[in-house]
Amino acid sequence: MFTTSRRSLILSAAVAGAALGLDGSLAIAAPTRRQQTPDPTPAGFTTAFVTIPITVFVIKLNDKLVMCDAGGGDQVQAFNPQSCFVSGRLMANMKAAGIDPKKIETVLVSHFHPDHIFGLLEKKTNAPVFPNAEIIVPAAEYKFWTDPSITGRLPKGRRPLAHRIQTVIPMWKNVLPVEGEDEVVPGIRFVSAPGHTPGHTAFHISSGNEQLMISSDAAYVPALCAKHPGWHGVFDQDAAVAETSRRKLLDRVIADKMMICGSHFPWPGLGKIAKDGAGYAITVSTA
Ligand SMILES: [Zn+2]
Repeated sequence: MFTTSRRSLILSAAVAGAALGLDGSLAIAAPTRRQQTPDPTPAGFTTAFVTIPITVFVIKLNDKLVMCDAGGGDQVQAFNPQSCFVSGRLMANMKAAGIDPKKIETVLVSHFHPDHIFGLLEKKTNAPVFPNAEIIVPAAEYKFWTDPSITGRLPKGRRPLAHRIQTVIPMWKNVLPVEGEDEVVPGIRFVSAPGHTPGHTAFHISSGNEQLMISSDAAYVPALCAKHPGWHGVFDQDAAVAETSRRKLLDRVIADKMMICGSHFPWPGLGKIAKDGAGYAITVSTA
């Protein structure tokens, strides 16, 4: 493992802001869908029926392509074959969206759950799928999963994940653990949101006066976790800490009038959030 000062990797926020403002190139490329379940109505995220896709965000910052998480790499599927919680379509979907996977320069990783990192590893060989990209990961997450003593302390179901991470990720020279809430790419900042996992991280993107929060899994299924932030799902490793992080992150998105999108938000995955009683309501909007 190596940790470095970010100064060698970033220009400066001012330069980045100016560059972004000049050509307005902040764009989110959405993959084509492989949706077999009914879509929610475009007016808002329904809570009557919950679709749970796995979404990978590719951000074009000037000429740089930054990918946020890597999906499940055809190694994560729902038990229900009709579900849209499937993986293995990333390469095809990127091509359909006009994105050359070889041109991804940076991959930001929110946390080390399979539906976010297995897309970095070839299914049978564990070979790197993005060998030429810099893979920037939260240092707290890296430390947790690569600690050899963690395996015995994890629930049985999570042990193979820790084993796979420990045998592969530390061998890669292009993995960069980053502490705290640094600007990891000009215009993109890590936002610490622990609880879902110990180092779980959101991504804050700014372009001129506009801001977007990629909340990763802080409110993973918004119909459940945003509407009822006090509900504690099994996917949150530390439920109380996850709830605190969730409320803090969503309150910040509201206070700063940001757009928000999450890794498992229903299509189109992008919206605005407002207080709604004891919880939060997300409405789809592209403006
Ligand atoms: Zn997830």
